[in-house]
Amino acid sequence: MSSSTPFRIIICGGGIAGMSAAIALRAPGREITVLEQSRLASEIGATISLQPNASRILQQEWKLDPISEARGMVDRGFRIFNTDGEVVRNLPLTSKSEYGGDRIMYHRQDLHSYLQRAAISEDQESPAVTIRTSSRVRACDATIGTLTLEGGDKLSADLIVAADGIHSIVRQCVLGEVTPKPTGLSAYRLMIPIEVLEKEAPEFCGKISPRQPFTSMVMAHDCRLIMGPAREGSVYSIVALVPDDRMNEDADSKQSWVSRGDLGRMLSTFEAFPEWMTAVFKLTDDLGLWQLRDLDPFKTWTKGRVILIGDAAHAMLPTQGQGASQAVEDAEALGAYFDGFAAIDLES
Ligand SMILES: Cc1cc2nc3c(=O)[nH]c(=O)nc-3n(C[C@H](O)[C@H](O)[C@H](O)COP(=O)(O)OP(=O)(O)OC[C@H]3O[C@@H](n4cnc5c(N)ncnc54)[C@H](O)[C@@H]3O)c2cc1C
Repeated sequence: MSSSTPFRIIICGGGIAGMSAAIALRAPGREITVLEQSRLASEIGATISLQPNASRILQQEWKLDPISEARGMVDRGFRIFNTDGEVVRNLPLTSKSEYGGDRIMYHRQDLHSYLQRAAISEDQESPAVTIRTSSRVRACDATIGTLTLEGGDKLSADLIVAADGIHSIVRQCVLGEVTPKPTGLSAYRLMIPIEVLEKEAPEFCGKISPRQPFTSMVMAHDCRLIMGPAREGSVYSIVALVPDDRMNEDADSKQSWVSRGDLGRMLSTFEAFPEWMTAVFKLTDDLGLWQLRDLDPFKTWTKGRVILIGDAAHAMLPTQGQGASQAVEDAEALGAYFDGFAAIDLES
């Protein structure tokens, strides 16, 4: 390869991991393409939080401004309530210096589109990343570094980053067939405008104060509610974790964030919860349900020209809120590993 040939990188998957890898790997002399199967037009309405380990990378390493550009809200702590609405535990998150960054809550669409804008921005020395939507990868050859798209196009790269999520296709060429396994937990998710919540659920708001930047939890009857505001306090998100064996739905058929839940069945699962709590479930017609799946740790994440990152490498349960944060860490580690590595290095 001559020194004028760019270092070609293809990232399969344009989720949080893929966009983060694109940002971290951008450098002069590189040609980066993200292949995304969807049109990136209909991101699901859900909140997502980045923990201090990831916020630090966005703000200090990548010099991004997610608080104003992605309307992030700094989380001031966890408050755990009993079913009477009394606080039983308070865990403040005040010491940014201790963790080197903040836990920041976002609307997923805001964070994702801000990362996308950063990847394609023209205001850097390095060439902008190309994002190809409606480009579904169906096969990969790790040794020669090729990806085959649905429709037959074949693309080659010096480095292939597999950021195509828990059901990764590219992973097959590294590890063979891997089937994610159910964890026994499913998650309902819903999001309500805070104005609606205040008008329609005053008893809930009297106990939980939804505009305050806290993560609130209620844990009872084997179920767990995790709640918090996003988008500068204009929306309130609720994630309800339910053991599969206590659900009144077919959990196994709900394997993606776009699966819908049934309100009547959710209410019967939560029938032991008080009315002040369950009243809020009725305030949305967009009820999602997702069965949480997991992967056993892999012996390797690399083969030939391919490396796995994000959920493709290590899917995470939302209980620690680290799914997206670990994806950001993966991207930063990849960026550091290839720092200074350009086409000229490939001559030797
Ligand atoms: C719609 C959605 C909503 C989510 N919401 C939350 C949340 O609220 N809270 C939370 O903690 N976690 C959430 N997660 C999970 C969390 O985002 C991930 O743990 C974390 O961001 C790591 O993401 P990832 O980029 O590795 O995988 P993903 O977010 O799954 O992204 C993978 C991307 O690859 C694309 N892709 C898949 N296969 C192919 C292919 N063959 N060819 C081309 N492209 C492909 C997908 O369309 C997707 O855009 C969500 C995931 C999704 C997909």
